[in-house]
Amino acid sequence: MIRFDNVTKAYPDGTVAVDRLSLEAPTGKITVLVGPSGCGKTTSMRMVNRLIEPTSGTITLGGQPVSGTDATELRRKIGYVIQHAGLFPHKNVADNVMALPRLLGLGRREARTRALELLERVGLGPQFADRYPWQLSGGQQQRVGVARALAADPPYLLMDEPFSAVDPVVRAQLQEEFLRLQREIGKTIVLVTHDIDEALKLGDQVAVLREGGRLAQAAAPAELLAR
Ligand code: ADP
Ligand code: ADP
Repeated sequence: MIRFDNVTKAYPDGTVAVDRLSLEAPTGKITVLVGPSGCGKTTSMRMVNRLIEPTSGTITLGGQPVSGTDATELRRKIGYVIQHAGLFPHKNVADNVMALPRLLGLGRREARTRALELLERVGLGPQFADRYPWQLSGGQQQRVGVARALAADPPYLLMDEPFSAVDPVVRAQLQEEFLRLQREIGKTIVLVTHDIDEALKLGDQVAVLREGGRLAQAAAPAELLAR
């Protein structure tokens, strides 16, 4: 479980991006943070993996405060997927996927085998392993981004607008595949989107943020729709 306890982030210029956020992202479920641009979604996520420190409040992973966990250990526990995949342009697909496990000491041969397995999981055949990011479509790059986030088999996944940079047809396909994959892997996921339809489609729980970084409500999609 990922838990936000009364978390506030004020940037040095005084902007309050997140205002007293309390929220639980349950184990094995998808929690979606949804709201308009600027309501603090990205800031909230980046505090979980300590790219940003909160001004006050506490974030815990499985009961452990992230503030007491070093960055390397956090990265092993938390996969991170961003909008334009953020692949290393000078590395091929297999090396992109396995960058973190290699850094952690996994051998070249095992890394290759594991890369091919992960690529298959996200719907990419072995022929993609030696391509470079620029040789892939946007949708394929996002798939590689997901494979890379899964490489160290982390229990947690943070996904920041993972399907926003692709056209609507590819997006729908990636959403379906993502739900199918999650049924197999059962990660604890926080996913950010500005698209309410996507939130309702993907979320086990949907947390609605408003301007000023305040939580308006958090509930299951069916419950939100019934309100
Ligand atoms: P979202 O992901 O919902 O679009 P962000 O978390 O990116 O929102 O931003 C929340 C608010 O914090 C916005 O008003 C944004 O302009 C502001 N903000 C984000 N990063 C910084 C920063 N480094 N310095 C000052 N303000 C920032
Ligand atoms: P998608 O529908 O997944 O977005 P695209 O229509 O963009 O895919 O691309 C279709 C096919 O063309 C894909 O199989 C992709 O691998 C290939 N492709 C796209 N860009 C390049 C490129 N720069 N070099 C080689 N193949 C490419």
